[in-house]
Amino acid sequence: MLRTMSTAPDTVPASAPEARAELLAFAGRPVDARPDLLGLERDALAAVLDGIGLPAFRTGQIWHWLYHRGATDFQTMTTLAKPLRARLAETFRISRPSVVTRQDSIDGTIKWLLRFADGNEAEAVFIPEEDRGTLCVSSQVGCTLTCSFCHTGTQRLVRNLTSAEIVGQVMVALDHLGAYPTGGPNRPLTNIVLMGMGEPLYNFDNVASAMRIIMDGEGVALSKRRITLSTSGVVPMMAQCGADLGVNLAISLHATTDTVRDDLVPINRKWPIAELLDACRRYPGLNNARRITFEYVMLAGVNDAPADARRLVALIEGIPAKINLIPFNPWPGSKYVCSDPDTIERFAQIVLAAGYASPVRTPRGRDILAACGQLKSESAKLTRREARSVAAE
Ligand code: SF4
Repeated sequence: MLRTMSTAPDTVPASAPEARAELLAFAGRPVDARPDLLGLERDALAAVLDGIGLPAFRTGQIWHWLYHRGATDFQTMTTLAKPLRARLAETFRISRPSVVTRQDSIDGTIKWLLRFADGNEAEAVFIPEEDRGTLCVSSQVGCTLTCSFCHTGTQRLVRNLTSAEIVGQVMVALDHLGAYPTGGPNRPLTNIVLMGMGEPLYNFDNVASAMRIIMDGEGVALSKRRITLSTSGVVPMMAQCGADLGVNLAISLHATTDTVRDDLVPINRKWPIAELLDACRRYPGLNNARRITFEYVMLAGVNDAPADARRLVALIEGIPAKINLIPFNPWPGSKYVCSDPDTIERFAQIVLAAGYASPVRTPRGRDILAACGQLKSESAKLTRREARSVAAE
């Protein structure tokens, strides 16, 4: 999605061979073989606990420690007897992605570069605002899609993130922000957007599992109304997303003709604008209180003419919607230039006059390259031979 991964600006970017060598070294280290409890949905957690002979009520207790309090050490689970804590610690682990770097922007935005057990990396970005705190999480390392305005689109797909790795991004942010429900009513983290690296509807099972864990009222307890999934337009999965999760939907639209969108968001060749908007009209639970957000990046001379704005409002007629106008954030090698402020304002006024909210998104975290479309990780895909040699060690 639009907010994607990047190399931290104050670290020296690794060359592709260096990144590959680092990944091989990391992947070759001894691994903790204990099964991970993080990322298991309740019924799966109940099953593994049942597997070591624990009664059903232990599931609720341990769930509470994992997600309501953020425990990472069984010894802190003081409602469990000490021998049971020791047994759990011998049998299971509670994972977190390791934090490679944390960068704090002057505007309060925080970006974490996170490393997973196999050495692959992704970033999560926290954006504080007056009335909310939003965490942007990733669903894949790299992306199969190649949206031409997006830095991640230049990094090929390495792999899908697991449910534990998606939940793990949220847990790291909760750890750092002290934002567990036990911290009181004014939690700094109130919203989640799946707008990081990757197309979440191409990894729907893991994304759905992770979101069910995050939404569980006895754990992290973030409501579906505070979660937004952003898609480039994987039409066949949109109805299932709405029916299974009921989360808010955002669409990376960015163009008003198929010719322009074919170039900006190439998945459009498979599911063109008319099909995409038809799926939006049928999105379960859509009403004026639950509008679809259309993301629209402002690119000078490409999609920012008044005629585009008029076409846009004609296209989405009848869809409860708001339009997020995103000033383009350049990245090294990008071929686009951001529209000038007057052009953006004129575009916003046309959309507003048609009755749609059209906020211009203030770029956040630009000084740490955490703004929309600037992010990209150095994770590289191992060749088959490299993967085999790691597996053989
Ligand atoms: S290439 Fe497209 S789908 Fe992939 S992360 Fe970028 S904007 Fe999202």
